[in-house]
Amino acid sequence: MNSLVNTPSPAARLIADQGPMIDPFGRAVTYLRVSVTDRCDFRCTYCMAENMTFLPKKDLLTLEELDRLCSAFIAKGVRKLRLTGGEPLVRKNIMFLVRALGRHIEAGTLEELTLTTNGSQLARYADELYDCGVRRINVSLDTLNAEKFQAITRWGNFDKVMEGIEAAQKAGLKIKLNAVALKGFNDHEIPEMLRFAHGRGMDLTVIETMPMGEIDEDRTDQYMPLSDLRQNLEQEFTLAEIPYKTGGPARYVEVAETGGRLGFITPMTHNFCESCNRVRLTCTGTLYMCLGQNDAADLRTALRASPDDGYLSAAIDEAITRKPKGHDFIIDRNNRPAVARHMSVTGG
Ligand code: SAM
Ligand code: SF4
Repeated sequence: MNSLVNTPSPAARLIADQGPMIDPFGRAVTYLRVSVTDRCDFRCTYCMAENMTFLPKKDLLTLEELDRLCSAFIAKGVRKLRLTGGEPLVRKNIMFLVRALGRHIEAGTLEELTLTTNGSQLARYADELYDCGVRRINVSLDTLNAEKFQAITRWGNFDKVMEGIEAAQKAGLKIKLNAVALKGFNDHEIPEMLRFAHGRGMDLTVIETMPMGEIDEDRTDQYMPLSDLRQNLEQEFTLAEIPYKTGGPARYVEVAETGGRLGFITPMTHNFCESCNRVRLTCTGTLYMCLGQNDAADLRTALRASPDDGYLSAAIDEAITRKPKGHDFIIDRNNRPAVARHMSVTGG
């Protein structure tokens, strides 16, 4: 565990004592997702075009600035923090940030520090992540077939990801596998993935593909409603609803045959916004109050305006007053994305 000691300032304690941030619809905002980079070593076909233009490096917040921003949110009642991207583990010196944030776990002001990763760098970082206070991670994996893996990620290496998963489990990290359900690609493979995950003590969550950013493919071809997938699974498995919650949008069932958990994230067929507790920060300091809306708040200016957190705190409060009721994704027949930015900008 890291040796940095976290002594919250009197101002931070005061804010924390006031309780969590509450949005206009009465929802407590306790979960921050941070996209630490929009870059990635994969090019998953549903997520990115092969020839992506990324942000100029000079536009990125430094890791110290990201730490300050995250710490301000924690002082305002955020209890769960997820690092994502792009691929969070390809950001240079990323463990500096993970270790810095780990001090809030040590101090008890943050309940969970976690990340979503494609697994490519896990073999290298698993032990250090555990040492920094990370206990659970999400690994995105859409297929167990190495050739299909290559096709869907374009640039990924299946064996490296498998090594990463093994290393993470060995380090003591609990893993949830995330698979985007893609019609005609992996829908028939989900039973095998379920057995694979549950056989190794991992949960599995399936996700509906969302219309975010221009990609090279047609989303109407890829989209698979999870209600259909569930019906197919029920031919083979007994699924029982359970109240299990991880603080995210997944709804879980227990699979009697495997004894493991299966989660469904259904932004398209079932709008999960009524219980939304999340906001999303990009690597340039833009705060999106909803994954599926364009409204955003610029926190970078407030952050850089003063070394004191007063402006920043006020800017965060103002942003929360603009958190919308929800999103309204539809897969457009003209193949236009519902929001122009890619998932890698706001993070999954
Ligand atoms: N690179 C990391 C990874 O793949 O886990 C973190 C970022 S990635 C954007 C986070 C999650 O979003 C992944 O599970 C990915 O499969 C999912 N994702 C990306 N584009 C998506 C889309 N258009 N619809 C639904 N899920 C998407
Ligand atoms: Fe990269 Fe994750 Fe997007 Fe795949 S889903 S391209 S791994 S950011």
